[in-house]
Amino acid sequence: MDASGANRTMGNPAAVSRDLLAWYAAAARDLPWRSRPGETADPYRVWLSEVMLQQTTVAAVRPRFEAWVARWPDVGALAAADDADVMAAWAGLGYYARARNLLKAARAVAARGGFPRTEAELRALPGLGAYTAAAVAAIAFGARAVVVDANVERVVARLFAIDTPLPTARPAIRTATDAITPVTRAGDFAQAMMDLGATICTSRRPRCLLCPVRAHCRGFAQGEPERLPVKPAKKPRPQRHGTIFWLERDGRVLLVRRPDHGLLGGMRALPTGPWTDAPPGLEGAPVAAEWRMLAREVTHGFTHFDLRLALAVARAPAHLVGQGEWWPVDALGDAGLPTLFANAARTIGEDA
Ligand code: SF4
Repeated sequence: MDASGANRTMGNPAAVSRDLLAWYAAAARDLPWRSRPGETADPYRVWLSEVMLQQTTVAAVRPRFEAWVARWPDVGALAAADDADVMAAWAGLGYYARARNLLKAARAVAARGGFPRTEAELRALPGLGAYTAAAVAAIAFGARAVVVDANVERVVARLFAIDTPLPTARPAIRTATDAITPVTRAGDFAQAMMDLGATICTSRRPRCLLCPVRAHCRGFAQGEPERLPVKPAKKPRPQRHGTIFWLERDGRVLLVRRPDHGLLGGMRALPTGPWTDAPPGLEGAPVAAEWRMLAREVTHGFTHFDLRLALAVARAPAHLVGQGEWWPVDALGDAGLPTLFANAARTIGEDA
């Protein structure tokens, strides 16, 4: 193996992009944020789709994307949107920090009169990481940018037989991706690599016999390309505990606004106590009441830990004023609750 972690450099890098682009012209996925092969796309749609896709699948994003652009069809419309409406519309699409950054970036873009065109300027917008900046520069502006998402990472590790475990392999994967990225049509090339990874060079069972770049693939030639990229040894994820409080009176439930900073910041939510290493019981209850703990719990996976939440329910004391909003239980679907709290409400409803 050479110092880059690749078993051998690609014999003819230009042939990879040629064969891949020929395949893409016929097999490109039809996605609502896409333009046709050979054309550049709307930067707003590319950027929005990439942010939505960071934590959610294409199948889940498609209807959400279409509803979003029907409501906010361009960056100016999003820049003028109400913060709370945007946060509510984001529910179920992953971390709310992404939605907050979307708004900040939309306002910055609107203020400067349009999207910047270079990768470096795009990177300076709030929330645009290296990957998204490269994707927008390449796909929307036709710049030659090296775009590496998880699909591309997998395809390139196999094409070059890079068997260094992740994340150590990332610089070598980036160098290898750079080597096969064409000077023109880098946007189509990036989308073709994403499509190849999503439909043919899939994680568990790559369909190598259908692959347009099989002739160039060292992983295929060596056998067992599915073992690449080599994953790092798994560390157990820490478990944290908390309690969700369901306080009800006259068909309404108490909702609170979470603090701006921290997980699910600024979102409407059911009250919770602290999230700790051991179940906190009724610590942090919004009021003293006759709390009843349900047998069922809800769980939620964050990036760095799993959260297990007990459910406590009570009727509100008649004299209670309470900090928050009394929301009609029948209309809870309109509250824009994050998935975790929507699941808790559903579980509590089933238990009632
Ligand atoms: Fe992936 Fe197989 Fe194609 Fe190699 S030949 S890029 S392993 S699908």
